[in-house]
Amino acid sequence: MSTIFEKIIAKEIPSEIVFENDRIIAIKDINPIAPVHVLILPKKPIKDLQSIENEDLVLIQEIVSVAKEIAIQNGISDGYRLLTNNGPLAGQTIFHLHFHLIGGKKLGAMA
Ligand code: 5GP
Repeated sequence: MSTIFEKIIAKEIPSEIVFENDRIIAIKDINPIAPVHVLILPKKPIKDLQSIENEDLVLIQEIVSVAKEIAIQNGISDGYRLLTNNGPLAGQTIFHLHFHLIGGKKLGAMA
């Protein structure tokens, strides 16, 4: 079953896109928990971080690079969090790999 992120990638559902190329898209989170809350995801439908195959590791590399650039653009490069929730126990709700880029305020404890 396709996830909401696949519909966003296909432009069937609107989103605020902050970066896009053939492999990666970054969108503003619909329910931000900080002044900057961007979701960075591969267009390839990978379920979660644990499902990453070696051939897809290059996508993670690119996501980190995109995250750094978005952090600079948003003036938060001196303090942000880049994280992925892997699985329901970690709070994952959409089963298409995505990284949260969160910043713009003093961030609280991790868990
Ligand atoms: P997870 O809980 O899977 O780590 O993160 C899912 C994130 O997707 C949540 O932060 C949630 O606010 C966000 N989200 C859910 N539905 C939509 C949507 O339709 N559009 C956007 N831009 N973000 C969404």
